[in-house]
Amino acid sequence: MYELNKINLILTENRIKVHVFNPSKRKIWCVVGEQNEYWLDQSLNFCSCKGYYFTRLNQKMSCYHLKSVEIAYKNKNKNIDIVEFTDEEYDGFLLSVIYNLYD
Ligand SMILES: [Zn+2]
Repeated sequence: MYELNKINLILTENRIKVHVFNPSKRKIWCVVGEQNEYWLDQSLNFCSCKGYYFTRLNQKMSCYHLKSVEIAYKNKNKNIDIVEFTDEEYDGFLLSVIYNLYD
């Protein structure tokens, strides 16, 4: 139940962000958590949070960030916030995401 509440909050507060870089249309997915912003890759089924790391160690499938994105997809993306950037900004953005992980 606890996990479901967290998923609900992420969805109702539109905390899933897709950063789209133009013109290439590369995407970086993030979920804004309570303390941190987490980087996700749905195709790799990867999330940068600690919960993901430990659930994988326990042979479970994913963390609640990935589950939130999955649900948002099923809701026709209505809970996903799209932010547009240019390709020139891609490297800098990726670096800031990575630095944020080690805060
Ligand atoms: Zn996660």
